[in-house]
Amino acid sequence: MGILNHAKIKELRIKNKMSQKELGKYMGISDRAVSKWESGLSNPSGQNLIKIAKIFNVPVECLFDNDILTHEEKSEGMESITELYKIGRGPSSSHTIGPEKACLFFKKRNADADCFKVTLFGSLAKTGKGHGTDTVIKKTFYPVECSVEFDFASADIPHPNTMDMIAFKSGKQIDKMRALSVGGGSISFENRDFQPPERVYALSKFDDICNYCKNKNIKIWEYALENENDGFMEYMLKIWDAMKASIKNGLADSGVLPGGLSVQKKAKILFNSQHIDETAQTRENRMVCAYAFAVGEQNASGETIVTAPTCGAAGVVPAVLFYEQQNNNYSDEQIVKSLITAGIIGNLIKTNGSISGAECGCQAEIGSACAMAAAALGELFGLGIEKIEYASEIAIEHHLGLTCDPICGLVQIPCIERNAVAAMRAINAVSLASFLWDTRKISLDKVILTMKETGRDMHKSYKETSEAGLSKLDL
Ligand code: SF4
Repeated sequence: MGILNHAKIKELRIKNKMSQKELGKYMGISDRAVSKWESGLSNPSGQNLIKIAKIFNVPVECLFDNDILTHEEKSEGMESITELYKIGRGPSSSHTIGPEKACLFFKKRNADADCFKVTLFGSLAKTGKGHGTDTVIKKTFYPVECSVEFDFASADIPHPNTMDMIAFKSGKQIDKMRALSVGGGSISFENRDFQPPERVYALSKFDDICNYCKNKNIKIWEYALENENDGFMEYMLKIWDAMKASIKNGLADSGVLPGGLSVQKKAKILFNSQHIDETAQTRENRMVCAYAFAVGEQNASGETIVTAPTCGAAGVVPAVLFYEQQNNNYSDEQIVKSLITAGIIGNLIKTNGSISGAECGCQAEIGSACAMAAAALGELFGLGIEKIEYASEIAIEHHLGLTCDPICGLVQIPCIERNAVAAMRAINAVSLASFLWDTRKISLDKVILTMKETGRDMHKSYKETSEAGLSKLDL
């Protein structure tokens, strides 16, 4: 029948607005057993699979991946692009912006609490110190006291970025919630009263969006405008302003990044390092890299950046667009339209694949950012929808398998340099796509599913745990 898709059980449960406890009750098992199924730590028996299918009124086959590359999932829509691009403080969307959001929600829900306790699990525990997760959590609950514990041992967790929050009053526990920081600063709760963001897009496959746009003879960004709410363009203009500000602030900065690795800030150096005989090509590479470094260094310094789609990969999209605006005088409005097209690509990856390094490795962060940057450039250059698709596909395809192994859990090495390399790669992908688009064999939808599958197969030590790869190097 194929491989059991553990995520599908969770997906169906959430879709049916059911908690793990409730599903467990229906099945006659514990909520812990449900949690283990959903995270792939154990498999339901054949009889239980039939029960699950009955409860959710789906065929048993629906719980299996018969062919990850060709199976057609039902289109369930996508969230707003405003859920993808967020202005916030670095260094990590899943380790700082997501937990901050979860804590704000929990704090508001327990306004009368006099003490909080947060326990971090999985990647949040393993790289939380380097990412400053504990500092952000304490700051968010301030002035109420909050203790933060790191649980490195527990494996029975529903997502690699899991955190438990407990509220106390006069020494008594009054509330407890489990939050999952699922990437790009987004969170979900193991709790029914949390409303996930509305799905404003009905379509969630590139092929469907492409057909729709072709039928109506509209561009991808125009399709987005048809679906987004009022004030969307104003929001996107603010996003572009924040991206430009992060580049300008980064170029003006110098010194050493915080965290103890003694990494020198290099954006300004790159920006000013013009060779006498520099070619136009070399200059382009140097400037694009300087802009990517500028954002990456602002992020690593805990300054304000825009998730695109995450904090760690925040430099790729702004670097290529800022370079084009500086050199070819594109208006802010033109840039914003291209950012919207990139947002649709990022949204497709977020919906059908992942944008979380802890879930699928760096291919999900830098690879996604590269695909978004390629789509943005394609839009800016006036390429047709197939060329834009091919540019994005090339960009993400050649990041497949890229591991997430930040040294000391800091979003510095290899992250910052990786932003610069991906920005240059996005430019090359657009160039290649404009020549070869009609020879392509792999669709964007398929490469996104492949990325997810590759991420699932990747050993967990390469998924933002700082336990393998580059993170083992002794600097
Ligand atoms: S290695 Fe990639 S995914 Fe991991 S923290 Fe750095 S930028 Fe993010």
